[in-house]
Amino acid sequence: AFKSPADVLKSIEDNDIQEVIFSFTDIDGALHAINYESSMVNAKTFSDGVMFDGSSVNGWKAIDESDMALHPDPTTARLNLFCSVPTLTIICDITDPGTGKIYNRDPRGVAKRVEAFVKGTGVVDEVFVGPEPEFYVFDRAAYGVDQHSSFSNVGSSEWLNSDMLYERHSLSHYMEANGGYLATSPRDLGAEMRSKMMAALKSMDVIVEKHHHETAPGQHEIGIKYNTLVLAADDVQMLKDVVKNVAKSYGRSATFMPKPVQDQNGSGMHVHHSLWKNGKPIFAGERYAGLSQTCLWYIGGVMKHVKALNAFANPSTNSYRRLVPGFEAPVLVAYSSRNRSAACRIPCTTSPKGKRVEFRFPDAAANPYLANSAIVMAGMDGIINQIEPGEAMDMDLYKLPPTERNKIPHVCGSLREALDSLDNDRDFLKVGGVFDDDLIDAYIELKKEEVEWLEKSPTPGEFVKYYSV
Ligand code: GLU
Ligand code: MG
Ligand code: MG
Repeated sequence: AFKSPADVLKSIEDNDIQEVIFSFTDIDGALHAINYESSMVNAKTFSDGVMFDGSSVNGWKAIDESDMALHPDPTTARLNLFCSVPTLTIICDITDPGTGKIYNRDPRGVAKRVEAFVKGTGVVDEVFVGPEPEFYVFDRAAYGVDQHSSFSNVGSSEWLNSDMLYERHSLSHYMEANGGYLATSPRDLGAEMRSKMMAALKSMDVIVEKHHHETAPGQHEIGIKYNTLVLAADDVQMLKDVVKNVAKSYGRSATFMPKPVQDQNGSGMHVHHSLWKNGKPIFAGERYAGLSQTCLWYIGGVMKHVKALNAFANPSTNSYRRLVPGFEAPVLVAYSSRNRSAACRIPCTTSPKGKRVEFRFPDAAANPYLANSAIVMAGMDGIINQIEPGEAMDMDLYKLPPTERNKIPHVCGSLREALDSLDNDRDFLKVGGVFDDDLIDAYIELKKEEVEWLEKSPTPGEFVKYYSV
């Protein structure tokens, strides 16, 4: 394991490393990287950082103050056996060279401030997060559709000739033919590819537990072990990177888009949270489902702020096509030990150490640093202000009569609603200086632009409904 810059420099020597990848995540959740020739990396790289143009990153600096620095975190260095030459990958914090401080809009910096804030409360010292990102793999890369122009050619002959357009209102991908929950080979066409993904992750020091086919055709999951908040988010970023690159090496394409295919399950990123103090779990106790009062308050805080949390946990317009009844994704804001239709589920476990809450509303498009940070801040608000979550709901919430169901609060129905909710309910995020108005406003502005652009864009579904009217 790497602890100091000296360890990293020694490893560059010992392993004949050719390149060092400095990577970081923007507020949108996208991973970025600069590859350095290894002889350019020295002790100064760690003390002074690596300069880059912050103004070219979505949602960051204005053009007149664009110089930013990447500060490599030596503890995150890992051999990246997955590159064509021996390579190290190091995750970086972003600093403002003017002040030398961590940039307030750096998502990883937010997660670090959450960890410090939580420790400072005296109630908790460690937050553990177990993320479960799901993804689809399509048989071939999208044609005529790239990342930046997903809808720009809707209506072109290419789209209209595509059988997919009529069969499913998804992008013009072809799906794997078979699959289903825990399917086996050869029905599961992705097992070998997922083994490759798991091996690559393992070689990159991400602790992997399992992989399996998910419910929908072509939908998959790779289970990674829980970790502390910042490191769990780092793990998600490494996982997404590996999954996309391995899929590409098979001539396929992977997507973490929350609802790529109509009438099929979406891709969630459930997150399991548990809090520890003095080496002991504080979520186990004598209350409902073996939970402690502290845990119930944590749930109460998350339920209270869930609509603002949606802005970070469900950050795309597509996210709200997943949050509908009938596809194992939650709609109603409730908690339960039994059912998966609740936004908060308490998984069955026999050991107090394993006591945790699973928040089921986040999806795989979420920035794992910001989404988990915001959820922890909501939970801490619950603990500090003793917010009761009310009674648990142990029935299938989808089967309730509509009059009963409508009495239960719902998650947001759109990204616009989530951004407005965040705008009006942000104080809990600012406690301890964790989030600030500058970051929240920049986030809302960035996402509102996205909403407005998409609201003006014709969608495949609209062609199906209206083209021949
Ligand atoms: N894919 C489901 C979702 O959208 C979750 C399935 C599961 O429980 O693993 O959240
Ligand atoms: Mg799953
Ligand atoms: Mg789960």
